[in-house]
Formats: sequence, C-alpha cells, structure tokens
Amino acid sequence: MASKHNNKIRVRFAPSPTGAPHVGNIRTALFAWLFARHHKGTFILRIEDTDTDRVVAGSVETILEALDWLGLEVDEGVKSFELQVSSQRLVSLWPTSFKKEKNGVLQEVGEYGPYFQSKRLDIYKKYAEELVAKGHAYYCFCSEERLEQIRKEQEAKKLPPKYNGHCLTLDAAEVKKLLDGGEAHVIRMKIGHEGETVLNDVIKGEVRFKNSLIDDQVLLKSDGFPTYHLAAVVDDHLMEISHVIRADEWLPSTPKHLLLYDYFGWAKPAFAHVPIILGPDKTKLSKRHGAVSILDYREAGYLPEAMFNYLAFLGWNPKTDQELFSRDELIKEFDLDKVNKANPIFDIKKLNWMNGQYIKKMTANELQSVILNEAKRSEGSHGLILGSFANAQDDALKKVVKLAQERMEKLVDFAPLTDFLRQDKLDYDAKILIPKGLSQTQCKTQLQTALDVISKIEAGDWQEEKLRKTFLDYCEKNNVKRGELLWPVRVAVTGLANSPDLFAVMDILGKKKSIERIREAISKL
Ligand code: GLU
Repeated sequence: MASKHNNKIRVRFAPSPTGAPHVGNIRTALFAWLFARHHKGTFILRIEDTDTDRVVAGSVETILEALDWLGLEVDEGVKSFELQVSSQRLVSLWPTSFKKEKNGVLQEVGEYGPYFQSKRLDIYKKYAEELVAKGHAYYCFCSEERLEQIRKEQEAKKLPPKYNGHCLTLDAAEVKKLLDGGEAHVIRMKIGHEGETVLNDVIKGEVRFKNSLIDDQVLLKSDGFPTYHLAAVVDDHLMEISHVIRADEWLPSTPKHLLLYDYFGWAKPAFAHVPIILGPDKTKLSKRHGAVSILDYREAGYLPEAMFNYLAFLGWNPKTDQELFSRDELIKEFDLDKVNKANPIFDIKKLNWMNGQYIKKMTANELQSVILNEAKRSEGSHGLILGSFANAQDDALKKVVKLAQERMEKLVDFAPLTDFLRQDKLDYDAKILIPKGLSQTQCKTQLQTALDVISKIEAGDWQEEKLRKTFLDYCEKNNVKRGELLWPVRVAVTGLANSPDLFAVMDILGKKKSIERIREAISKL
C-alpha cells in the first residue's frame, strides 16, 4: 500500500472533544487501531479542540474511557493512566494486561507533541503565514455582515455558497495598512478554480472533485485559532501520519486537504474514507435509533470483547462466514483493502446475539467476576442489581451465574433472569402449572408426589445431579411420564412457563424453600 515516510505505519484517531464519543467515531478508531496493530505501526490519539465553542469539558476523559473499555491502547499522544486500571478485570480474557502507572492525569506521550491542537496555535499561524507568503492564501477582512450579504446574493441566484474573492482584490499596500491598523481578519486558501483535484482513496478508489466548486476555505480564524482543515493537514504532516483513516463524511473536505499538501509542497499520506454507519432506516445512525454513545453500551450490559468484534464488522468483512473473532484474529485478518464501500447498518439484534455468544463462551468463574465487577463499577446504576446475591458466597453465586448464563444476552439480563430465585412469593397464573394432557386434580397429585420424593432426600444429598437422578429414577420405576411430574414442579419452584433447569434451581433454592414453593402451588390449584 502506498504510503510515505519509509513505510512506517502511523495512524491517528483525531476526535473533537464535543461530548460522549459516538459509536461511529469509535468504530473508525477501531479500524485505525486494527490497521496499526496489523502492520505493527503506531496508533496516535490527537485531540482536535480548536472549535472552542463546541468543546465540552470532560469529553477527552470519556474518549479515553471508551478506548480503554475496548482495549484500544494508545501508543502515542494523549493518554490517561488511571483509566487503564479498569481493564484489569479483562486480564483473563484479553491478552494485554494494563499497568497502573500514574493517577488520573492526562498525559501526552511522544515526540510529535503537543497532541492537543489548542496547544499548537503558534504552529498553525506560522504555516498559514507561510502559505500567504507563497501566494496560496490571503488575508480576508470581510465582516460577518458582508459575508452574510454574499450568502444571500448567492442563495437568490441559486449558486452554491462560496466566498466571492472580495479581498483578493486588495493590493499589498492596502493589506498592510489594514493589518497594521489591527483590522480583524482571517486567512483564506487561495484556490485555483480551474481543473480537478483527484483523490486515490484506499477504500473508495478514484474520486474527482471540480476545483470550481471548492470554497476559498478559511484556514486561520480571526481569534488566531485554525480551522479543522489547516490544523489536520499541518498535524498529519508534522506527525508523519502515513494513513488518514476517517469517516466518509469528511470526504468533501479532502480536496481542500490535498490542495494544501500541494501548496506546502508536502508528500501526501494515503487516505482511507471508511463507510458511515446507518440505522435500520438507512439514515445516518443517530439518537433517533437509540444509544449512540459507545459507553451507553457498557451501561446496557455489553461486553467489550463482543462490542469490539461487532464494531469490526461495521464496514469490514473477512470474506468468509466466520463471525466470532478474537482480538488477535481481527488484528491478523483486518486490512483496509477488506473495508467495504457500502455503508453498514447497525443491527442491534446481531450485536445482542454476538454478546450472548461471548457470554456463553466464558467460564462461570469469568462471568461471575465480570458481573460482580460491572455491578460494582456501575454502582447498580444500570440495573445489574444482584440483590441478595451480592453477598452470596462464591459457590452459591456461581450456581446462579451458571443457571443464567445460557439465557443471557447482556450482563443486565442477569438480574431479571434470576429474580425468581430471590422473590419471597412467586406471582404466576396457576394455569401454567398444568401440563398438556393432565387435569387440575392430576396435576395436584403430581405435586404431592414430588413432595413425597423430596421428603426422602437427605439434606446432604440436596445437590443438582443427585436430585436429577432421584426424580428420574422415580419416574422410571413408577412408570410416570417425566414431563407430567417435572413440568408442574418446575413451574412451582420458578413461577415461570419457560425456565432454566429444574434441578439446578432446586439446588440453589434449598430443600426448605423448594418444599414451600411446591406447597404454595398445590394451594393455588
Ligand atoms: N476532528 C475530526 C472529527 O472529529 C477528525 C476528522 C479526521 O479524522 O480528519 O472526526
């Protein structure tokens, strides 16, 4: 793949800290990260905080938390050491273990800093002025009112909104006078409006842009801050970025960037515009479609491993039927040439399925510790309430975890799936006690029989497998259809028409509670 700088792969995730990181942004970060890991390159986090009106305090921390949750370690740029501690719970599941090095500070690591754009204003000013000196940019003194006037005129003529080049007519002496007089100004790109600018995108292939449609983009604003365009190009160059991996929605900006590289006389990085994630209605994924903040998925009980796997599939395809990929497998398989041009659809059902698969793959021990840690981390805020199990001894809790594991799709399913174990009195319709083919009286008799069978079981034998054997032996010896005896008992002890294994449930409930519940069922009939 063509790239500059001696084929050293250096990619950056360059979010603007404007709030909670969106699923789409993190998917793009994940692609960049996988690409970096696949090619043994460097993954850089640069914070694009030059649009001061839109900066939201705390966003950088949330971005780091999201990257950390998914195990997307930052090699260079902005890092936080404290947050990485949360990943320790994943040690058994992830190949990487994280170390606690410093407490809660945002650190900048690397030789190309600063990595916060707001700390690089002098650099952008220098380069903007360099372009003016080279004749590729110019000072513009137009007031907001004049710009508004231009916009209105263009609108009336149904022309695309573009700066009309008014300040290009100023001669050098006039410009100097205005600058010396402290007149407010911006610096604009001076675009030669003839011809075309051609992008050879790694994913999209050749894309051509008519220069006549490109605006004389503001590069440096009157407050001395750069626009995204200038800052991104200058930084991608100075930070020796080999591949600019970003979402397709930035494509309209790319011709301006390509021209800037030419004006500066710099080698260009490779560009890879990754497809945009859509909602089920094929419009861009947004709040209307449900949660879009990546950390909301943690609150909703998704595992980082599953989210990682799922996000990798949003726009990428291994070209085989395999869907479950470990992180190492993804690093091995992922490359930009397998990224699709078509926009992927965020399918929550698929994510749920995948998360369920990851839950099933865990050992009960792993799942138990993830549930406990997650309940603790979230302080119960996302409904992972363990109730009386929070203090349960390890073994007791493990049995409950095992019982729920098969049916869990998300961590938060644990509480509702095991609620029936905690309730004092079960609330269900007596009708569901009666299996097909039995009358109410026959059903009652089966429950009485169950009480007799149970009464002969010693307390020391109250254990899932022994219970199973006792009941099944009883059915065999007495020619009783298993379903006719076990169905009502199962409903009696769980209160549910669809429930987990009867003997596992009775084991957890204990003899006393099991008997109580069967008696209660008899009284209902
Ligand atoms: N700051 C831009 C964003 O928030 C970065 C776009 C790019 O990667 O060039 O997505």
